[in-house]
Order: sequence, then structure tokens, then C-alpha cells
Amino acid sequence: MYQAVRGTSDILPAEQPYWRYIEQAVADISRLYGYRRIDTPIFEDTSLFSRSTGDFTDIVQKEMYTFDDRGGNSLTLKPEGTPPVCRAYIQHGLGNLPQPVKLYYISPIFRYDRPQAGRYRQHYQFGYEAIGEADPAIDAEVIDMAWRFYRSLGLARITLQLNSTGCRQCRPGYLSALKDYYNSYAGELCNDCKTRLEKNPLRLLDCKEPSCQKIAESAPKNAGHLCKECDEHFKKLQEYLGLLDIPFELNHRLVRGLDYYTRTVFEIQPEEEGAQSALGGGGRYDDLIEGLGGKPTPALGFAAGIERIILNLKKEGVAVPATPGLQVLIAYLGDAARTEAIKLALVLREAGISVVTTTGGKSLKAQMRQANSLEARYTVIIGEDEVKAGTATLRDMANARQETLAIGELAARLS
Ligand code: AMP
Repeated sequence: MYQAVRGTSDILPAEQPYWRYIEQAVADISRLYGYRRIDTPIFEDTSLFSRSTGDFTDIVQKEMYTFDDRGGNSLTLKPEGTPPVCRAYIQHGLGNLPQPVKLYYISPIFRYDRPQAGRYRQHYQFGYEAIGEADPAIDAEVIDMAWRFYRSLGLARITLQLNSTGCRQCRPGYLSALKDYYNSYAGELCNDCKTRLEKNPLRLLDCKEPSCQKIAESAPKNAGHLCKECDEHFKKLQEYLGLLDIPFELNHRLVRGLDYYTRTVFEIQPEEEGAQSALGGGGRYDDLIEGLGGKPTPALGFAAGIERIILNLKKEGVAVPATPGLQVLIAYLGDAARTEAIKLALVLREAGISVVTTTGGKSLKAQMRQANSLEARYTVIIGEDEVKAGTATLRDMANARQETLAIGELAARLS
């Protein structure tokens, strides 16, 4: 028996109300803040991700679905949303529009992760990017938008973590302080961290191994190494977040998994769990567009995993609106009634009423069972007597009340 590939899942009809609820909230919040939708292809040139996400990140080293197409081009299924949006921004000259350009997306994301609750090999992210603005007011707006998005869904038990990772001027000084500190613990680090110390020292700070976490607690803090401009940017951002009444916690170990972040990084986490279960996160990436061959363009963005939001909606017991059910099921008995049922279904659908006609000549009992399972609001029953009289029985499924009507009256009555 075939199964969905490990780490992927089917979204069955019963789950769909959660997805519609979130998609609607995404569209609503995007409209409120003036973000417009962009969709990019499922795959891109592999080098787009190795150049932007970073050669030494977990994503590029271990998690990408990369393949050669029949023309010998190396392609990669989208492992994150930001690089494709930046590629599109450059490719379509969006830098010529008034800045910042504000875009949002909803997209499947592919990562060869170790599957577990809240971690899949195909998952969905929604994200937004504000491209072409360096002002910390836009950082505050993006964080505000993320915060209000979760609150608008009804999630109450969340926290916001904030940090600044500096810029290309001040980061080298911080990295060398970090390396000096970690070198004195080199023997105690996990194997991954030994590599990180060489290749990607910032990631030492968010290692999940308890022994490494202990070492990270006393590591030098980036905040003490920021240049004047980064320091001012970070202070202004905190001031604006105060104005917007957004509670945040400074977390000097928050670095996030991608190479391109500069200055602001932030994450939204469920209150009771640690960093492994981030509901979403983002940050500034002022050098990314230039690194991809565009003009120097400051930017920042945010991305959230939809499956994790659903897990938390369930955990917090948030009720989501049900999708509208079926309005009418037409049950019939006999061949002549079947002809009437087919004609009536057409008339009702033309009046905008949703209809399912049973098929295959089932017993009335089986047809009523089907009406219940489809949660039909009404059942129309056409038997041999009704065909002769040109009528139908209309049954209200909520209270089992029945009435007989002329077939020609049904559409108007149900409307
Ligand atoms: P990232 O691009 O790693 O910052 O991820 C953004 C958000 O996507 C995370 O905060 C999670 O909510 C979600 N996410 C990341 N990886 C996975 C995964 N493998 N499975 C499910 N959700 C994920």
C-alpha cells in the first residue's frame, strides 16, 4: 500500500477549516498593512539558495531537495520563501517602484528535516517582505504585523523574542569575541558545534544540546559589540515597539538559522516551549539583494509555519469557523424520479444552491445516511407518487420537519 512520503501529509477535508481560517487571516492582515501577494515557482536554480541562505547553514548543507533536470540544470525545491521573492524583486525591476515594496506569499516549503511533531519535509509557510527601506520604523511595523496576526487568530500564549545581530561592519568584531570565548570550551562542544566554531560561529548560540546551551548562556552578547548605527537602530526599534504596545523579550542567543540576517532578528514562540517550536520568525537582510546581484537594498521580512500554527490553535482550543456545508441532498426512488432529480439539481444549482444527487439507486435509508454524513441542511425526496403528482418532499434536517411542495416551487423556497 502506498503511503504519503515520510514527513509529508494529506490535508483531508476535516482539517481544511483550519487552513481556510489561516489563509483568510493572512489575507486580512496583509490588506491592513498594505502588502500585495506574490507567487514564485516551486523550484529555483540551486545556487540562489546556496548564495543567499548560506553554504554553511543546515538548510543548504543537509536539507535541500536538489536534483538535476533533464537539461542538466541543478534545481532545488524551495526550502524557504525569502530568496525567491528577492530574485523576483531584482528580475522584475521592482526597485524602480516607490520603496518599500511590500509583498506576501503562501507557499509549500521543502526541507529534508527529521520528521516529528511540528517538523515536516513538506510544510507550508506564509511570509511577508518589506523591501527597500532601512528605517527602524519598518522593523517595528513588520513585528507589529506578526504579533497582531497571531493575536487575531486567537492565540494568547505567545512570546516575542528580539535581538540584533549587527552588520558587516560590527559583526566581525563580535564573531572574534565569540570565537575567543568558545575556543576555551572547544573540548566540551558537541560535534556540530565544533564545525560551527570554524564555519558559522553565530549558530553556536542556538545549539539545542543541553551542554552547549549552558556554555552559550555566558557567551559574549552581540548587544555589547554593535556599532553606533546598529545600536541606534536597535534602540529606536525598541522605542517604537513600546509605542505600539508590543511586549518583547531581549534574547541575546537568538540568531536564527540563515546566514543573511543583519541587525534585527525576532521570533514568536509558544509560551510553554523552547526555541525548537518557533511559530514564526524573521529579521532584516540588508545585504541579501546586493549579494544576489541587485543594487544595495535594505529589507526585512517574516515567515510562519502554518502547520505549527494549527497545532497551537488546537492546543489553545481556538474554535475555527466551519466551512459552509452542503445545502441540499436530493434522494429519489425509481427511474422516473431519477430523471426528475437530475433536472431539479440543475435548476437548484443555477439558483446558487449547493446540491448533491445520490446515485446508483440506493435505499431511502442509505440516502438519508448520506445526507447526514454530508451534513446536508435539507433533503429533497422524490418517490414514484411525487413524480406522478409533480411534487417533492422537503425535509429540514435540523428538526426532521417535512412538507410537500410542487417541484417548480422548490428553488424559490430554498433560496
Ligand atoms: P525558518 O524559515 O526556519 O525561519 O522557518 C519559519 C517558520 O516555519 C518556523 O518558525 C516554523 O514555524 C516553520 N517551519 C520551519 N521548518 C519547518 C518544518 N520542517 N516543518 C514545519 N514547520 C516548519
